[in-house]
Amino acid sequence: MQHFFVEASQIQGNRICITGTDVNHIRNVLRMHPGEEISVSNGVDGREYRCEIDTISEDEVLCRLMFIKEDGVELPVRITLFQGLPKADKMELIIQKAVELGAAEIVPVATARCVVKLDEKKARSKTERWQMISEAAAKQSKRAVVPQVVPPMTMKEALQYASQMAVAAIPYELAEGMQATDRFLEEVQKLALQKCADGDAPQVGIFIGPEGGFTEEEIELAKDCNVCPVSLGKRILRTETAGLAILSVLMFHLEERG
Ligand code: SAH
Repeated sequence: MQHFFVEASQIQGNRICITGTDVNHIRNVLRMHPGEEISVSNGVDGREYRCEIDTISEDEVLCRLMFIKEDGVELPVRITLFQGLPKADKMELIIQKAVELGAAEIVPVATARCVVKLDEKKARSKTERWQMISEAAAKQSKRAVVPQVVPPMTMKEALQYASQMAVAAIPYELAEGMQATDRFLEEVQKLALQKCADGDAPQVGIFIGPEGGFTEEEIELAKDCNVCPVSLGKRILRTETAGLAILSVLMFHLEERG
């Protein structure tokens, strides 16, 4: 089933109006016709609006709402990936994969050992591009929300933000043993059950360092903010692998089991 994102205002009662570049895609690329079914999300409420195409014109596709699926495809916790700015265009791959794996938000972080330095103008244009990559990945993986890529933060700002979350961890290659990792996973699973009880998805943070890793001071600062160092095993993973590895583990632990 083809999936599209619209603004909340484009869903009015049982009428859904699709505009913009999706119209050309529906008309000329997918060659869809009235009567065919599509699924639509407004990108924020997590619902899937299943509808039937009514009419297709030059600049809009009008649809009729058939039903709403409340419990869609989203994980029971909102995972924020704090990613140390990597070199070249690695961030694009990281965002695409993190969105596929269920992350709810991505925060690029300028850490002490980041090679890449972004001035304000560059940061703005990069963030815009990254947001587009998130939206494309969300469409492709049929997410009900478009994960937000926020403008880059400093490590201090990021830690401050994370300290307000239900739980946060910082994978650190010098962390010893898997006890802290297991505790973190248990904690996240408990939070998922909490979501089932009260309906609101608790927030979970994960910090991944850039190619050069985190400095000892950054790890100490993280501990002060209740962000716990954890190991991802005895092998050193590249920055683009580390986040995806822990997101995959969380996804399997958190996936609804019927
Ligand atoms: N500079 C380091 C590796 C950095 S890897 C070195 O070469 O030794 C980039 C990031 O991936 C790290 O900051 C950490 O967050 C994460 N990472 C990679 N391997 C890890 C592991 N085995 N355990 C925990 N975190 C790891």
